[in-house]
Amino acid sequence: MSALLVDNIGELVTNGVGEGPLGIRREAAVLIEEGRVAWVGPAAYAPAADRRIDAAGAAVLPGFVDSHAHLVFAGDRAAEFAARMAGEPYTGGGIRTTVGATRAASDDELRATVRRLRGEALRQGTTTIEIKSGYGLTVADEARSLRIAAEFTEDATFLGAHVVPAEYADRPDDYVGLVCGPMLAAAAPHAKWIDVFCERGAFDVDHARAILACGQAAGLGVRLHANQLGPGPGVQLGVELDAASVDHCTHLSDADIDALAGTAHSDGSGTRTVATLLPGAEFSTRSPYPDARRLLDAGVTVALATDCNPGSSYTSSMPFCIALAVREMRMTPAEALWAATAGGARALRRDDVGVLTPGARADLVVLDAPSYLHLAYRPGVPLIHQVIRNGVPQ
Ligand SMILES: [Zn+2]
Repeated sequence: MSALLVDNIGELVTNGVGEGPLGIRREAAVLIEEGRVAWVGPAAYAPAADRRIDAAGAAVLPGFVDSHAHLVFAGDRAAEFAARMAGEPYTGGGIRTTVGATRAASDDELRATVRRLRGEALRQGTTTIEIKSGYGLTVADEARSLRIAAEFTEDATFLGAHVVPAEYADRPDDYVGLVCGPMLAAAAPHAKWIDVFCERGAFDVDHARAILACGQAAGLGVRLHANQLGPGPGVQLGVELDAASVDHCTHLSDADIDALAGTAHSDGSGTRTVATLLPGAEFSTRSPYPDARRLLDAGVTVALATDCNPGSSYTSSMPFCIALAVREMRMTPAEALWAATAGGARALRRDDVGVLTPGARADLVVLDAPSYLHLAYRPGVPLIHQVIRNGVPQ
């Protein structure tokens, strides 16, 4: 097996041992063998390798871990976006528009969309991406959405409880029964996670608890959409069910923060339930941003993700989310980068990605910049020079 040396790295972010919270090393090199990081150290002591990539003094980071994306859908909602920018509020009702288009699409059309968005994300440095179902909302359409998602990710999430589809509008209890019964049975073989949109207008706390408990019993890990559009019980339900992540967290009470902080690991390594913030959604719905500082100051582990979806956040760009987190949510550039890499990995309960330490998956991003600071400092600029995934230059 050939070895690949990424050499002459001016600033290496490891999220492990090194300077500051990002574990930065200067004048460094990374040796990759069999898709894994085999060695990290000073460039002057780099071992020999069959192949070499010269980073030319630039910054190198772990690939981004996007822990929240809805990529299996058809159609777009550009007109809805334009109407919203002209003053119409976001209600979540537009999800049903995408459900209609998704049901009407062929498998190949859905697969082509996932492939396109997955490629778009990869070119922007995302080397791990979670992909949700949730625009099929029938047994067959959720099962095929997850089958297709699983072709592109190890982290496929069953979101049959995205909204109650129109045909069940007057009998939501029956829809919950469908989700917990035949839909879960068809979905579970392709999924690692279960998710519920717990929000007014979607699923209330009792329905959400019932659905998530069924998913847990079927072996799926729990994550949920919570407290996006207003205050509510979602975050505390997530803590109750040992969710890996509660996502959005835009409207939080002191009790919500305390509940999350209460899941702290005893070794000081953060919280067991992660708060995943999705600033692309606030940007695209012109809504107030979550209070990241309040979470961070309480010791809650924070992740950043795109929420890539055709309605409320049609971006696949983690650098864009980092820039928003720094400018609009008062995260430091270091906090934002950690949240977009190691934080995303925590939100997926993975320790093989989001870090560049020996044994980790060799997912590296070479920037066209001397420092990770440029990700927020130069928003909208294509700074991703090269992406290496699983040890393979893309
Ligand atoms: Zn979402």
